[in-house]
Amino acid sequence: MMQSCPDVPKKLSVDDKIRLSTIFESIYWNESTSVRVSTTNGDYFAEYVVLTPSIGVLKRNKYKLFHPALPLLQQEAFEATDFGAIMKIFLYFDTKWWKNNDQAFSFFWNEEDLNSKEEVWVTKFRYILKLPNNPRVWVGWVTGDLVP
Ligand SMILES: Cc1cc2nc3c(=O)[nH]c(=O)nc-3n(C[C@H](O)[C@H](O)[C@H](O)COP(=O)(O)OP(=O)(O)OC[C@H]3O[C@@H](n4cnc5c(N)ncnc54)[C@H](O)[C@@H]3O)c2cc1C
Repeated sequence: MMQSCPDVPKKLSVDDKIRLSTIFESIYWNESTSVRVSTTNGDYFAEYVVLTPSIGVLKRNKYKLFHPALPLLQQEAFEATDFGAIMKIFLYFDTKWWKNNDQAFSFFWNEEDLNSKEEVWVTKFRYILKLPNNPRVWVGWVTGDLVP
């Protein structure tokens, strides 16, 4: 990802602030002067903390991560946010049939197709997107009941 920055040799202004292999364990967020983040490599202090783990981490660790506990509203928001599954179908074409500027195609199905008594998997296939850096491959996304 870093290699795709526009100017790779130029150091990013955050480079010296990144701590790799450092797991945060607890956040003490109501101390009077600053927020304290306790990690496997010691404590860090900051005016603000922006926390961006996945929802699974928040759901599992919400009681031990935050001191004091987060307000009920936030805790309920974690519980109300669930996981969804997506299936990707990669399509490889020998022959290019699209125009250079085409990035995506959406499919619209008529009611007869959508309400068909048989399970028609192809109607769950709503759109395909062109993959960057891979001129012959498009990817289709499928969500819903079809995804195991
Ligand atoms: C199989 C798969 C395919 C996907 N494909 C696509 C796609 O094609 N296009 C697309 O747009 N999105 C895709 N997504 C979704 C995309 O990956 C996520 O939406 C995106 O990565 C979320 O970014 P994030 O920074 O919010 O969280 P994350 O990428 O989950 O980053 C959270 C980070 O927090 C770190 N962390 C967690 N707990 C701690 C801790 N205690 N201490 C320190 N660090 C911690 C984790 O190690 C992780 O690096 C895909 C996801 C999956 C799983």
